[in-house]
Amino acid sequence: MLRLENIETGYDAGLALFGVSLEVREAEVVALLGRNGMGKTTTIRSIIGLNSPRSGKIIFNGVEIQNLPSYKIARLGIGLVPEGRQIFPTLSVRENLLAVAANHSKHHDPYTMERVFSIFPRLEERQKQSGGSLSGGEQQMLAIARALMINPSLLLLDEATEGLAPLICQEIWHGLGVLKERGLSILVIDKDIQALTTISDRTYIMEKGKVVWSGESHEQNLSTELTMRYLGV
Ligand code: ATP
Repeated sequence: MLRLENIETGYDAGLALFGVSLEVREAEVVALLGRNGMGKTTTIRSIIGLNSPRSGKIIFNGVEIQNLPSYKIARLGIGLVPEGRQIFPTLSVRENLLAVAANHSKHHDPYTMERVFSIFPRLEERQKQSGGSLSGGEQQMLAIARALMINPSLLLLDEATEGLAPLICQEIWHGLGVLKERGLSILVIDKDIQALTTISDRTYIMEKGKVVWSGESHEQNLSTELTMRYLGV
């Protein structure tokens, strides 16, 4: 579904990704791990076109997207849950969802407000409340729900549960599990290795702008040496 081939992406200061290749297959959950500053966010930003790669290719459902603007990439069916959530604080929960609702890929069974409420029931309870008045965890649920309202076939999640209370993290992982069961492909960054190994099929570990390990997530879980070496835990 998604293939990155040898991409190099940088900022004014210089390159941050040095030839990253990775793949997300249909209905697969893929985890992207690595210590701070290793290039995970830059990889996500490259995919969605916020930082277009200087070289290499990104192919999504057979289309080269590395030079497309973000809104066109989103319309092809990639939803982003950005780091820091970035919901609309003055709009209500309902309005946040309605503001982006679309079905450009013509899914025959699209996500609707009712469907996202069934995954995150707290949002239904809070539907009239402004986005800015929600707790951090509720805002993250809203950010995920909002990304679903564009009916993506691939969801990119940058820091799924960072800084959130354990109970709400469980609700978010549960919601992502439901989306996985329904066949959504997900590329997810998080620091909770345990939760990631449970939900993901495969893992890529990044170090200094390169992929240094990839494999089945359960293998990564077993290897203490690997997590010590690349994740420092
Ligand atoms: P974190 O978990 O801290 O977000 P990360 O693995 O997602 O880390 P990136 O944010 O992709 O890493 O950063 C990769 C490299 O790019 C780092 O060296 C970082 O300093 C640099 N970088 C990130 N954003 C910018 C920016 N806006 N301008 C310049 N350099 C940046």
